[in-house]
Amino acid sequence: MDSKLHVVYTESPTLDVLRPILAQLPQPPTNARITIKPNLVVARPSASGATTDPQLVGSIIQYLQEAGCRNIRIAESAWVGERSTQHAYSICGYEEISRRYNVPLIDLKRDKARKAEVGGQAIEVCEEILATDFLINMPVLKAHCQTRITCALKNLKGCIPDREKRRFHSLGLHRPIAALNRIVKSHWIIVDGIIGDLTFEEGGTPIRMDKIIIGTDPVLVDAYAVQLLGYELRDVPYVQMAADLGVGSADLAGAEIVEHGEKGNHRVPKQPANRVAERYYNLIDQRQACSSCYASLIYALWRYEQLHGRLPAGTFFAVGQGFRGEGAGDSPVAGNSRQVYGIGSCTARVCPHSVPGCPPTAKEVLTHLENWLN
Ligand code: SF4
Repeated sequence: MDSKLHVVYTESPTLDVLRPILAQLPQPPTNARITIKPNLVVARPSASGATTDPQLVGSIIQYLQEAGCRNIRIAESAWVGERSTQHAYSICGYEEISRRYNVPLIDLKRDKARKAEVGGQAIEVCEEILATDFLINMPVLKAHCQTRITCALKNLKGCIPDREKRRFHSLGLHRPIAALNRIVKSHWIIVDGIIGDLTFEEGGTPIRMDKIIIGTDPVLVDAYAVQLLGYELRDVPYVQMAADLGVGSADLAGAEIVEHGEKGNHRVPKQPANRVAERYYNLIDQRQACSSCYASLIYALWRYEQLHGRLPAGTFFAVGQGFRGEGAGDSPVAGNSRQVYGIGSCTARVCPHSVPGCPPTAKEVLTHLENWLN
């Protein structure tokens, strides 16, 4: 486990994009029993923002098989509202992945479980997970209505039986999630941040971000995810709790964050339709905006309104590479009676109030908004 995080900007999680980054991670022995744990909490395709992109999972399997690994499986347990995970495997495109790469799909709802202990606390964990040599944790970067965000640490809740999930909820989620990660080690964490969700873990308000986060420390990955979605570490207590249990480090200042891919080549001005983002649509002048920048703004606006109520009337935002070369006459500020705030370094020349960064995180955008508007 090291303090390096890779952030890959891409719309397309192909093996060619991922191979050079995966090659930098500690490699599983070829005879290892490898389990890939996606997030298939509900039976909704990844475009909904709820579930892990099957193409990303397929690329990871291709990489492992190229390296000579043969003992690979995909294992998941959908949320307690589903009686089996089979429906989610089918709807989310995993049956096709299973056929194409000859990899079994394990429904952990049908698995036996055993108690494992950590710090005097016993937690039931599915036997398939306990028998795993090398766990590849593949969460979706998204919000959660109870724990604020869900990413690497919370994704392991799908490794326990439904009765234990219910018990976790009765215990307030945070402490048991941290403890579970002390029992179950994630060897690789590959976060699907291509499309996540703004508000709920079951999707419905999808936000395109076009990024993949790769690391070996689930605490560090989650600490990074927290500020990407506009929160503080204290807002998501299980991250620091896991750090305190020795699962990893939440010290982002001491982390090395390596960015890959051309941000400027991944312009996706068309975000997936959702009721929240559409409300902000008329407040944003976006010109060739990278999806990461645009998503940071949406997450920050959502978080701002949660904390402070509606945005002040007349507030307006500019985002995108189209503002890089703007003369003052074409700028969103000139002749605009509204107060225009720029998001990202592309807007620095044309917006006196501009959030630096390429892309800035939602937390950085939120902090600037609070300084400017409150
Ligand atoms: S500042 Fe934002 S829009 Fe500009 S290149 Fe960077 S990520 Fe893209």
